[in-house]
Amino acid sequence: MRAVDLIRKKRDSGELSREELSFLVSGYTRGDIPDYQMAAWLMAVWIRGLNRAEIAALTEVMLYSGEVLDHSEIPGRKVDKHSTGGIGDKTSLILAPIVAAGGLTVPMISGRGLGHTGGTLDKLEAIPGFNVNLSLEEFRCVLRECGMGLIGQTAEIAPADKKIYALRDVTSTVENIGLICASIMSKKLAEGIDALVLDVKTGSGAFMKKEEDSVRLAEVMVETGKRMGKKVVALITDMDQPLGRMAGHSNEVIECIKILNGGGPADLRELSLELSAWMFYLGEKTKSVDDGRKLAESMIASGKAREKFRQEPQRLPKARSRLDVASSASGFITSTDCEGFGIALAMLGGGREKKEDKIDHGVGLEFHKRIGDRAEKGEALATIHYNSDAKLAEAKSLISGSYHIGERASVAMRPLVHRIIGA
Ligand code: URA
Repeated sequence: MRAVDLIRKKRDSGELSREELSFLVSGYTRGDIPDYQMAAWLMAVWIRGLNRAEIAALTEVMLYSGEVLDHSEIPGRKVDKHSTGGIGDKTSLILAPIVAAGGLTVPMISGRGLGHTGGTLDKLEAIPGFNVNLSLEEFRCVLRECGMGLIGQTAEIAPADKKIYALRDVTSTVENIGLICASIMSKKLAEGIDALVLDVKTGSGAFMKKEEDSVRLAEVMVETGKRMGKKVVALITDMDQPLGRMAGHSNEVIECIKILNGGGPADLRELSLELSAWMFYLGEKTKSVDDGRKLAESMIASGKAREKFRQEPQRLPKARSRLDVASSASGFITSTDCEGFGIALAMLGGGREKKEDKIDHGVGLEFHKRIGDRAEKGEALATIHYNSDAKLAEAKSLISGSYHIGERASVAMRPLVHRIIGA
């Protein structure tokens, strides 16, 4: 078999067999197939797509590229959550401590920033000294002691996703249902979990902009998880505007601490409670989702969740300078091109253009206006936290252009949770 023939086969809309997918994935993971061939194949997949059989085979091949963990020596259920990604989407850092404080084990394998969206691993690395590269033994030890562990894909766990994910990030090959399903489910099924809550984003800041595509992605992932014997539910949630008020790595950690302290923005708190509630329910800690929500609320109110996440915000790196993005007109925010915020953040150093780029954890965006809010001409819509002038003007104009302002406030507000698949 040759990689070049499999690239051509997909380019010409052919269907790849399990053996062919295995050849590509294992060859690339080992380093026998170079980046340029894998990138060409990924772009062919992005354009031609994968059918259900190919998605199932790719997910399994990626899953078995490493070890599938077994935490049966740790008592109780193991539950996780994964989001398809968005702007200001930081719920993992909130719900892992809530759910662990409530008595379940959360073995979370996360990803780095992808495309215009931020990644949990990069956010955690904003915390001085936080190590996301634990060995398997260290991960097990942290799970036993704390009830939660957040790490990245390793040479042992989901190594194929680690490499393919980094390549997709810089080759514009993210927004594809099959590739997203295989990436997410190969990591999550390797974790040794009993149940999984999926947060599938929809809207202008999501990879799937249209609700029907988000639903299709959710269905494929739920079906994949159930086939592997896991309890899985997917919530289709809104990403037409940033979640919470903060984007950027340090900024997002600070906002998570506010939620765990009982404050923070209402939308972020609401979604974190809803996702935690489903985790408690699927993890059989509560008899209903409503009871799960009450348990989640009590973990915040009692300070137990905050105790799991001990962090002093003043130790986080901060950007040196700030710049307001002023409204060019008076009126109401009618919509946002939410993806533009993520691209602007990446331009400021908060994302990668090349695989080897380092993230600037201090840069960020602070959103003052949300859809439906009134803004006066000259009033700040957002504030940029930056360290370098290099792409500041470009980022500012992108942010400004991502807010749409109209004369009337007649916006039908979309609910935070649009629908639930697989309940
Ligand atoms: N999150 C992932 O882990 N993988 C994707 O492909 C998209 C979001």
